[in-house]
Amino acid sequence: MNTALVIDNQIRRAVGRLKDRLEERRRRSRPPAAAAILRMRDGLVCCRVCSCTERQPCEPPCGWDQVDLCTGCAATVDALVEWVTGAHRPNKAALFREVSNQVKTEGRV
Ligand SMILES: [Zn+2]
Ligand SMILES: [Zn+2]
Repeated sequence: MNTALVIDNQIRRAVGRLKDRLEERRRRSRPPAAAAILRMRDGLVCCRVCSCTERQPCEPPCGWDQVDLCTGCAATVDALVEWVTGAHRPNKAALFREVSNQVKTEGRV
């Protein structure tokens, strides 16, 4: 077998394992759902943040990051955690004013 190909495959497998490990660590570092009681809507588990369900997903369509937290909300939480920990003086009220203004400007609800 071609040595370069063998090495290429080994690197690809090693990167895959590393990605798996990072993903695993990310999942484990997340706090478990606050309560074991899942919120339901139309007989389906709904996201504890935005109330989306498998039948009525977010736009763009989401999946599940945790059993009751959708990938859209999880990504937003990640971004906000980065902001809260990195911003000089993170003012949540000011942030949400900005969000509201932006939504108004874009002509959404
Ligand atoms: Zn959600
Ligand atoms: Zn969602």
